[in-house]
Amino acid sequence: MIPVASTPLQQAQETRWQALWRQAVRDPRELLALLGLETQAQRISEAAARQFPLRVPRGFIARMRHGDPEDPLLRQVLPVLDEERVVAGFELDAVGDGAARRGGGVIHKYAGRALLIATGSCAINCRYCFRRHYPYAQDTAAAAGWREAVARLREDASIHEVILSGGDPLSLADHKLAELTDALRAVPHIRRLRIHSRLPIVLPERVDAGLLDWLRGLPWPATLVVHANHSNEFDASVDAAMAKLRSIGITLLNQAVLLRGVNDSVAALATLCERGFEAGVLPYYLHQLDRVVGTAHFEVSDARALELHAGLSATLPGYLVPRLVREIAGQPGKTPLAQAASGTAAAV
Ligand SMILES: *Cc1c(COP(=O)(O)O)cnc(C)c1O
Ligand code: SF4
Repeated sequence: MIPVASTPLQQAQETRWQALWRQAVRDPRELLALLGLETQAQRISEAAARQFPLRVPRGFIARMRHGDPEDPLLRQVLPVLDEERVVAGFELDAVGDGAARRGGGVIHKYAGRALLIATGSCAINCRYCFRRHYPYAQDTAAAAGWREAVARLREDASIHEVILSGGDPLSLADHKLAELTDALRAVPHIRRLRIHSRLPIVLPERVDAGLLDWLRGLPWPATLVVHANHSNEFDASVDAAMAKLRSIGITLLNQAVLLRGVNDSVAALATLCERGFEAGVLPYYLHQLDRVVGTAHFEVSDARALELHAGLSATLPGYLVPRLVREIAGQPGKTPLAQAASGTAAAV
């Protein structure tokens, strides 16, 4: 899961963001020590850390509050005993990705859009992630040199938008990304490129000259959907990264996950949307948690989620209110939550 090669020659060619990636903290005890929280060690789950290891860039740790065990950024990354609880209804493949896999890392669930599991690597491991149990090794697009993915995209002329996802697609080196987009240039029905990445937030150094060159050279309009759940995830380094992306005409959107203990108040959500806007990012989706094993302690009830969303709509201009959605297996798109609630009632 480490994107950088380890021979001395290749290390010499390592970019700054790759070096920062390599220096990420991977030991939960080291993370707690950096925050002056050694006394919290009894909360750590070794089993959870084995199943899905801790990984967090040092720049992201610098945005956590020193000495605060309830810090909303810390809560997103620390493997805790709560994850070991077995809770009915929390499954391994909660979003039905298995059934929509087309091979070569391509997942085609929605009209006109195909999502590519570009790579399994991420710069940060988020405890609530719905892909923490995803069988990456079997099915990532880059691992197979993109060949099968490009073939699947080429043979289906209904696909107009390619969404690079993962894992985190920007964990791939620039030349690897260019390899894909060079091959896609020859596919006439592709009209838009979208990138879903948490890297510009958690490791903003990724937005370097090489990445900007690649983006600038694309023949399609490009959208970057970043992922921040709390306003504290933004700082001057993130602002600078966003400004560079905007200066070359990239559309910037944010998707967040509604997480208990992180952003489950109107104030926290409103501040997130406003802070994102200051950085040049518009809210896109607020996701209701996908019910995967080990994430139950993050869940916010649908009733509370709707209440928070109503509060947000009463606080912010319409363009700063994200769509509150849930992923339901077999649906033609993300389902707005009000509809999801009544849909479930009707189905019972
Ligand atoms: C979320 C998702 C998309 C993108 O959906 P939009 O509503 O267009 O943002 C596409 N494919 C899959 C498999 C997804 O899960
Ligand atoms: S960066 Fe995204 S894909 Fe990676 S662990 Fe976090 S939520 Fe999951």
